[in-house]
Amino acid sequence: MDLREALSRGEFSLHYQPLISLDNGEISGFEALLRWTHPDRGDIPPGDFIGIAEETGLIGPIGRFVLERACRDAAGWPGDLKIAVNLSPAQFRSYDILASVVHALDVSGLSPSRLDLEITESLLMDKSEAALSTLRALRHLGVGISMDDFGTGYSSLSYLRAFPFTKIKIDKSFIKDLHSSPDSQAIVRAIVSLGNNLGMRVIAEGIENPDDLAFLMEAGCGEGQGYLFSVPKPLKDIAGLIAGAPAT
Ligand code: C2E
Ligand code: CA
Ligand code: CA
Ligand code: CA
Repeated sequence: MDLREALSRGEFSLHYQPLISLDNGEISGFEALLRWTHPDRGDIPPGDFIGIAEETGLIGPIGRFVLERACRDAAGWPGDLKIAVNLSPAQFRSYDILASVVHALDVSGLSPSRLDLEITESLLMDKSEAALSTLRALRHLGVGISMDDFGTGYSSLSYLRAFPFTKIKIDKSFIKDLHSSPDSQAIVRAIVSLGNNLGMRVIAEGIENPDDLAFLMEAGCGEGQGYLFSVPKPLKDIAGLIAGAPAT
């Protein structure tokens, strides 16, 4: 895979998927999702190349591109709309992620309170002091930290206490099974009340139908994301969605 060439040729872009506040149905922000448009092979999904980018070290420059592009785009949006950016654990291990975030905020002029960084449990599993102090420094800047794919790893509960999370994202595997699995329903209810009681925002990803949305609202989940609301779209195609968002 020509990942290095892809970056210099400008073949990477970001798509944005709205995050919906379930209290009022309004858009609270967008998640940035990386896309690679290969000249011969067409669109390649991130699952097919993020792992290779991590192994080859290219996640450093690619991650910096994502942070800067997302912050610059979000700086042009009205009101308090937030931008959520995915970070790979490898970006914490070998790169100065703090400097990259500071740089992206600096060049974009985006307020730190409008940036949410999404990380997965795998970052925390080695219980690294370095990762913890980096997360604390990021929180100190004023950016939010979300635990992505919550419920899919190990010992999630102890991580919630040890790390400075502001938001929990319930993994879409639980949402997918909601209609058929009483166990998934119980787990989702438990995660929502846990997050609410810990003072964190809780968002469910992968909402595809109105029944699942109704269940989540009834359970007290604060935010949602999924094809029911919108698929991820290029910047130019979300202008209509943003125009309908509340401006402050
Ligand atoms: P993720 O962070 O869990 O992102 C959510 C994934 O679910 C996205 O897949 C999104 O398109 C998809 N999705 C959203 N709504 C629905 C729905 O209603 N149903 C279903 N079935 N899927 C839905 P995508 O864009 O293919 O991204 C896959 C993964 O790649 C992401 O999972 C994230 O882990 C990673 N990724 C994406 N962009 C970046 C990036 O800029 N940096 C890093 N490090 N990882 C990224
Ligand atoms: Ca994510
Ligand atoms: Ca996720
Ligand atoms: Ca995921």
